[in-house]
Amino acid sequence: MDVDTLSGLTDGVPVLLHILAARGIRASFFAALGPDNSGRAVFRVFRQQGFLDKMLRNRAPSIYGWRTMLYGTLLPAPRISEAAGDILPRVGAAGHETGLHGFDHVRWHDRLLNMSREEVNQEIQQAQSAFASIFGTPATSFAAPGWQATRNSREALAAAGMLYASDTRGSQPFSPRFGPWTSPLLEIPTTLPTLDELLGLNGCTVDDFFALILSRLESGSPQVLTLHAELEGGPFKDAFAGFLDRCLATGVTFFRLEDWARELLKRPQDIPAAPVFQGRVPGRAGTVSRQGRAEDRS
Ligand SMILES: [Zn+2]
Repeated sequence: MDVDTLSGLTDGVPVLLHILAARGIRASFFAALGPDNSGRAVFRVFRQQGFLDKMLRNRAPSIYGWRTMLYGTLLPAPRISEAAGDILPRVGAAGHETGLHGFDHVRWHDRLLNMSREEVNQEIQQAQSAFASIFGTPATSFAAPGWQATRNSREALAAAGMLYASDTRGSQPFSPRFGPWTSPLLEIPTTLPTLDELLGLNGCTVDDFFALILSRLESGSPQVLTLHAELEGGPFKDAFAGFLDRCLATGVTFFRLEDWARELLKRPQDIPAAPVFQGRVPGRAGTVSRQGRAEDRS
């Protein structure tokens, strides 16, 4: 569950907690804790092919609300962490994992590829101190905004004491290779497409989307699905709840990423290394960090 915005935290997370509790499901939540600069995302239209298409296809203003769309532009950016002190402890108390989804989501998403190690470090340290002021201890898991990962980000995350990260799109857990360097930090990639990517693409409806995800889950191998508090905890909450009911009825089981990470780290020699490259995924503007094939040398 990614929480990108203040409204995702204050409105979406309580809805998700309710949906999950009613079904006895525990999940992993990752929250951005810095300024909500969502409005700046609007300016990607000038730089990233496909973004305007996507905004129109998703009717983004009606989903996120005009206020969120303007944060960081015409309205000052509020700090997500200001509301997090009330809400994130409830997430933890309900048995879910709570980790970081960066500090300034927009900045990480747009600029990570060009950030120095020191700049990345600063993003992570600011997020860690906001997290520690809520929980008393730093976070041990991280999911990169916009699935953007670099050698600098992986080095900084390992130094920040993370158990694992979920920074990329891929097929199975791995040790990410950036050129000749292999990250010592376990990577658990998102393996399934997201609702915002496929909705409206080739006529895909929300029901089509969840039917597709269910068919992928029925294959039996573990999968990682990324949800957004702003979407599955917002206008698509009923479809999401119905999807979970169908999952439970067909015997799908759920796990928190941190529990899977601890299992995997008992046998580190079995974790394959694979290169990371910047590539496109259907329905998403720009590129994301993707898991390459283990035998590829990047
Ligand atoms: Zn995000």
